[in-house]
Parts: sequence; C-alpha cells; structure tokens
Amino acid sequence: MSAQPLQLGSVLAHEEAKLLACVHCGLCLEACPTYVQTGDENDGPRGRIYLMRAVEEGRLGADAPTFARHINRCLGCRACESACPAGVEYGQLLEAARADLTNSRREHGAADRLLHFALRHIWPHPARLRLAFAVARTLRDTGLVRLLRATHLPHLLAPRFDLALALLDGSRAVRLTEQEREPTTQPASANITTSRALLFDGCVTEGLFARVNRATARVLALNGCATERPRGQVCCGALHAHGGDIEGARRLARQNIEAFADDNAAPIVTNAGGCGAMLAAYAHLLAADPQYAERAHSFSARVRDISQQLSVVSLRTGAPINAPVTTYDASCHLLHGQRAASEPLDMLRAIPDLEFVPLTGSDVCCGGAGVYNLIETELSMRVLDEKLKHIAETGATLVMTSNPGCHMQLSAGARLKGLRLRVCHPIELLEASYRKLAEKSSDAGQETS
Ligand code: SF4
Ligand code: SF4
Repeated sequence: MSAQPLQLGSVLAHEEAKLLACVHCGLCLEACPTYVQTGDENDGPRGRIYLMRAVEEGRLGADAPTFARHINRCLGCRACESACPAGVEYGQLLEAARADLTNSRREHGAADRLLHFALRHIWPHPARLRLAFAVARTLRDTGLVRLLRATHLPHLLAPRFDLALALLDGSRAVRLTEQEREPTTQPASANITTSRALLFDGCVTEGLFARVNRATARVLALNGCATERPRGQVCCGALHAHGGDIEGARRLARQNIEAFADDNAAPIVTNAGGCGAMLAAYAHLLAADPQYAERAHSFSARVRDISQQLSVVSLRTGAPINAPVTTYDASCHLLHGQRAASEPLDMLRAIPDLEFVPLTGSDVCCGGAGVYNLIETELSMRVLDEKLKHIAETGATLVMTSNPGCHMQLSAGARLKGLRLRVCHPIELLEASYRKLAEKSSDAGQETS
C-alpha cells in the first residue's frame, strides 16, 4: 500500500466528476469481455471504477497490486461506454488510471520497460520509427518471419515471441478475390472533384499497411474527394495514452494539430479506428492547455473515419468481384469511440453480389487492444478464441476490420490455430470492386474500338 495515495492518484483526481457519474447499476457488466471471461467483478467496468474511486479518495494506493492487476487487464475497448445509461466516459477514466499507475510504480516488468522505452525513444521520432518499420517489413516480406516460425523455435523459446512474429506476419497483404493475382488496372478518379480531405496516415498503418492508405486515397478520389497527406504528422498518441504516458500523447497531439493547421476547413480522414478515436479525443487531452485547448477542440471536430467520410458522398457502386464468403468485425474504437456502426457496412453494400454473413459478437473486442495481446497474453487469447469461434460459425474465410491492431490480432489467431482465414480492411475490398469496374470498362472500350 502506498504511503502517499493522494499524490499518487493525482491524474484521477482531475476526473472526479466522471467517477461520480457511475451509479453502479451494473448494466455494463455483460458487455465487458474481461468480466465475461473471468467472472470477477474487479475485471468489469463497475469494479474498476470502484478501484479508481478508492485511489482518487486516498483509500488505496495507485501502486497497490490489486489496482495494477485489474486496470492492466482492461482492454480499453470502451464497450462499457456504449452500454452505460449514465454516459460514464470510461475511456478517459482508464487513461487517467493508467497514468497514475505508471507514475506510481517503482518496478516495471520487462515487457513494460520495453514498451515504455519504445514509446519514449522510437515513436516520437519519425526517422527512427520509419527505420523500425522498414526492418519489420523486411523480416516479413522476405519470408524470414515465416521461416523462423516454421522451426517452432520461437514458440519453444517464448510463446510471446512467437505471437509477436505471428502478429507481424499477419500484416501481410492477402489475395482478396479468387482470380486476383497482381492488380493491373487502377480505378480512374471522378471527373468532378466536389470535396477535399486531409489524410491521417497513422504510424502502424503507414509502416505495415501502406496499401490501405493508398486504397483510401484512391477510393476517395473516385468518389470526387481530393486528398492531401500533410507533412509533419506523427503517431496519434493512442499507444502512449493507453499505456499511461499522457504527457507523451499530448506532445504528439500538439505536433499533429500544427501539421493539420494549413487547411482548417477540411475534414481529417483516417482509416484506423484506434487512431480516429484518439484524434477525436484531443479536445479532452488538451482541454487544460491554454495555448492548444481551442485548436484541439476544432481539430477533434474535423476527424472522420473513411467510412463516415464516404457516407456523406453519393458512394459509387463497384463491379461484382469473386470474393470468398465475407464477414465484418468492428474495431472497438471505431464503434464505441467514433460511433461508426452502419457506415463501414455501407461501404460493403457498394460491392454488388458480395456474399456477406453478419458476425455474432462483432461489437465485442478481439483481444488485440494495442499491445495488450503481448502484455496480458493469456486473457487476450481467451477473448480471441471466442472471436475466432464466432467467425468460424459464419463460414466466412475473409474477415474485414478497420484497424491495424485488430487486423494483426485476427490474422495471428488464424496462423496460431492453422485456420484458413484472410483479413483485410473494407476499403481494400471496395477498391478491388472499383478496379474490377475499371477493367470491365477498359475491356468494353477495346471491344468497341
Ligand atoms: S473498456 Fe472493455 S475491457 Fe475495459 S472495462 Fe470497459 S468493457 Fe471491460
Ligand atoms: S459504468 Fe455505467 S453501466 Fe456500468 S455500473 Fe457505472 S453507471 Fe452502470
């Protein structure tokens, strides 16, 4: 127990009103994946809020093992927010609790230390981050990761290392349609540009899923939206905020606000649920910063997921593609943070004849949750097993999701279990459908000429 609980609970102390908003009704419990898995009240939102209040009121130290255990075991999925009738802003409470926890701990485990080293010394430095992702891509694209995993050595040495390799391998591009080999025809842009958007790249997306960013720009162009990628943009700060480094997240937020300042009217579009929810939370993150509070508020108001941006245009219909049976798993932060439930599915409706099967529990976390899978591996895998079971029930062999972390978690799960399951972003499938349309028009043009 801490000797200075009030001092240790200082970040939570600023969130007292949000803590008091919880009326302890328990209506959020069944929506909470960790509570469902363990049945322990302290692994549910209500129990965690009790623990946060105990820290905030000085009855418990932020360095107490019970506090650390149950706050660390939270996925941060925010499903409890959607279920809560009292509007408790749990995501912001969790970030405050993690910040108090990080500040209070004298001892950190090896995984924790490694994470905080990377967040402090690699993530805020674009050149170092680019280098780290270039190394990761080389390991992935040369097949070294697969080769290493095939020896079973990583699993024998440390199952978590094997998981990390499976996650990296899971970011590889997959074949989306039965005939597709290499895309040859690119969809043409719309003849008339009617809108404009600034694209937020996202560090993991640009590092491992650049194809998704390029598909986003092409689909927007085809629907009459001109795009730009502002220079100087950095990581959104989600990993920092969720890992308890609120100051690190604030520094990144200020850099992004500056980077997107040139055109204050254009929406800021992202294709990653985790980044989008974080960018939309800059208003809260910088609310007490006199220099940035107002700018952060306007910045957050401009943030849209790609599916939300496409929902305001008259979305063009593509051509049928020979895709396998498909399902959709929602990114928690896209669904519960940005409240985009129907918009991602609307993108799929623009693909004619797509054989789509809804997924039971699509609104439940997959267990990825940033780097949660590498830190709370056992619980993460239990949550993932449940997800894979529901995906298997659909009969789909292609699952779509709108966040790189979810993408890698589902792909890694398939690899670890030897399942025939491919994963992609919905925008990739929509682009494939537009590409097919372009191929058809080009074939028709050749026939008539
Ligand atoms: S964020 Fe998710 S895991 Fe955490 S308490 Fe809420 S529902 Fe449970
Ligand atoms: S977080 Fe909301 S739903 Fe959960 S116990 Fe508190 S008031 Fe009830």
